[in-house]
Amino acid sequence: MMSSISEQVTQIQASLPPSVRLIAVTKQMPTEVIRAAYAAGIRDFGENRIQEAAAKQAQLQDLPDITWHFIGHLQTNKAKKALELFDWIHSVDNLKLAQRLDELAQQLGVEPKVCLQVKILPDPNKSGWTVPELLTDLPALDLCKNLQIQGLMTIPPFGLDNAEILYVFNSTCKLAKEIAEKPWSHIQMNELSMGMSGDYQLAVQAGATMIRLGTILFGKRT
Ligand SMILES: *Cc1c(COP(=O)(O)O)cnc(C)c1O
Repeated sequence: MMSSISEQVTQIQASLPPSVRLIAVTKQMPTEVIRAAYAAGIRDFGENRIQEAAAKQAQLQDLPDITWHFIGHLQTNKAKKALELFDWIHSVDNLKLAQRLDELAQQLGVEPKVCLQVKILPDPNKSGWTVPELLTDLPALDLCKNLQIQGLMTIPPFGLDNAEILYVFNSTCKLAKEIAEKPWSHIQMNELSMGMSGDYQLAVQAGATMIRLGTILFGKRT
């Protein structure tokens, strides 16, 4: 299993444009899997649960150059823990959470990199800003000066065909460009976190800078 991880990581990495950062999503996977991916050259790891990530990070202290990405829905009461454990938070999905993270980041003396999670199409199963909501909240987000807002994150609704998925990714890219045209003090729009195992090629085609892959690297989660 560990040698197949190394092969998969190497093969996928080689197929990607150098501008795309591969984030290995290791949720529900044991630390041996993280070590195998690390040995194959991966330094960016994604987790979606705070408790699980804390336990794994405690066992991986001998690997100090990992960049940890939080990709799950973050409850406000876990925001402090998230800032202690993660370098990136891809899934900032509402203004209240952003403002709480900003306040806590100041207290902790950290400057987390974050993405704003956006819903291009309606999706009752996911959190995130709709486009009009995000445009409304941008001035307030720009005041969150302890957050390094780097770009947008999106997950297409389940069950779309390829053309629809590509539409979601292209629209996200276009939205980031529109936002970037305004003279913000803190907001930057250089990153697009989009694409999972089933749709990452479409995401790369649409300009993703970070893709989040689990299943295709490590097999099915149980
Ligand atoms: C689980 C997860 C992934 C990885 O999904 P795969 O289909 O296993 O590649 C990516 N992004 C988010 C937000 C996830 O929760």
